[in-house]
Amino acid sequence: MPRSLPRIAQLDHAHVWHPFTQMRDWLKREPIVLVGGKGAVLWDIRGREYLDANSSIWTNLHGHAHPRINAAIEKQLRKVAHTSALGFANEPASRLAGELVKVANRGRRPPALTKVFFSDDGSTAIEVALKLAYEYARRTRGKLPKPRFLALRGAYHGDTVGAVSLGQIDLFHKAYRGLLFKSAAVEAPYCYRCPFNRAKPERADARTYRRCNWECTGKFDQTLDKAVREERPFSGFIYEPRMQGAAGMIPQPAGWLRRVAGAARDHGALLIADEVMTGFGRTGAATGPGNAALFAGEHEGVQPDFLCVAKGLTGGYLPMAATLTTDAIFAAFLGEYAEFKTFFHGHSFTGNPLGAAASLASLSLLDSGKNASARFTLERGLRKELSELWSLPAVGDIRQEGLVAGIELVRDWRTREPFPLAGQAGIRVCEAMARRGVLTRAIGNVIVLMPPYCTTKAQLRRMIAAVADSIKEVHPG
Ligand code: PMP
Repeated sequence: MPRSLPRIAQLDHAHVWHPFTQMRDWLKREPIVLVGGKGAVLWDIRGREYLDANSSIWTNLHGHAHPRINAAIEKQLRKVAHTSALGFANEPASRLAGELVKVANRGRRPPALTKVFFSDDGSTAIEVALKLAYEYARRTRGKLPKPRFLALRGAYHGDTVGAVSLGQIDLFHKAYRGLLFKSAAVEAPYCYRCPFNRAKPERADARTYRRCNWECTGKFDQTLDKAVREERPFSGFIYEPRMQGAAGMIPQPAGWLRRVAGAARDHGALLIADEVMTGFGRTGAATGPGNAALFAGEHEGVQPDFLCVAKGLTGGYLPMAATLTTDAIFAAFLGEYAEFKTFFHGHSFTGNPLGAAASLASLSLLDSGKNASARFTLERGLRKELSELWSLPAVGDIRQEGLVAGIELVRDWRTREPFPLAGQAGIRVCEAMARRGVLTRAIGNVIVLMPPYCTTKAQLRRMIAAVADSIKEVHPG
């Protein structure tokens, strides 16, 4: 270990095992030790300043150290930091449940989402939906075989064992197959690399690569029909609406979700919407500055039976998650005590008052017209700035859904030949970006940009300039 490392970095190197990180590589470099933040800016222990271009792994909505969220947490802290939801109610969690029910049903179709089960992070929100759907199907379907779940190719729903069972990314999930229950996967519309070979062989842009006959929805229908024919219908269909995040920021064409979700429901599957990444305005304005959708499913008019939220729920300040569901699901767990229909699930920090207080403050910020128009302006600014990256030879595709963007790096844009994963094409660009004072994390060969909503025009420009200069440095073409 080099002697000049700050003490904190030495402790980190000695003892901390970082997530999704090859620790041998990690130990070769001095870590960036973040010590403070304000708005879209973070700074490290050596006093260097950075822009937080992925909202601290997709969590932060309004910027760091926002006075309203800080004040809400501090106010609650003066009352009590934590009380248990096992046996007791608390004020912020009860209020938050009411607010979540309000925003989750705004302008949407039935079924109404009326019940909120709190947990700690995205994975646990999924785990709750999965167990509830499983048990609901078992209780209501009589003699049919074991409940089955359908997920999208490229799906990522978290790292707990249930969530990994639904996951469809070999790199993350294959090693654990022996530990998991089986789920089925169906093709998701990765238009840039369309598995039905409809992608045009010339340079992609949003205008040219969506010429198809919706072959992917046809396959989807076939899968559902077959399952029903064989009397092994799916109990649940889980999806990330509008954009698959960890798959590589892969957007779904408008209308796709409406079609497949309708088909899944017609075939008896409960809809589980994973809005852990997309929730709370990330996927942009529905129709304009005055009408900013908070959930991606709203864009498609799809109301799920389970809505899973986490990351941005607290504005990205504290670990807290929620699974919203319907009266029908709730009712299946009611009974006399001795019937033991209780949902036997919960965590020590379920409904934590500090997290709930932060969430309430974040929701009230989201609710303002000022916030909606700031998001709308940022979304447009991002689109404009991103368009400048098309001229770089290593840029194969640029995908944007609202305030989320993925830039796919390729060895050859004409053939769309990918960089081999082992070459760390994306990781190296992110390291070059960090040297330029902009922090984000790649998903394989895809550079992610997901700025907090408070990002200024000038900061956005700096983020894009860092992406451009870093791609030029690492992949000069
Ligand atoms: N679902 C989605 C769509 C996600 O992006 C993530 C995290 N990246 C999760 C679930 C898991 O969330 P967490 O890391 O908070 O457990």
